[in-house]
Amino acid sequence: MDALEHTPDAVAKPVQVSVAEYFRASGSYQGFCINCREITNSGVEPDARRYECEVCGERMVYGIEEALLMGAIEIAADEEEVG
Ligand SMILES: [Zn+2]
Repeated sequence: MDALEHTPDAVAKPVQVSVAEYFRASGSYQGFCINCREITNSGVEPDARRYECEVCGERMVYGIEEALLMGAIEIAADEEEVG
């Protein structure tokens, strides 16, 4: 039987984003908040670090490239066919 454990955010799994989502965020200078675990801010350079989050107010927003490098997000392998 598996016991449910409280997992600290720091070791939580990366958030999966689609390729389209990643490039949209990168192209429009959006940032990823590691506290909200969501793409939140706008006007964030891809290599930005510790920007203030527009949602939670914590300085935990990283540029989308930076978020990928530090393992906060992961590009989902699944292809997204929109049509
Ligand atoms: Zn936040």
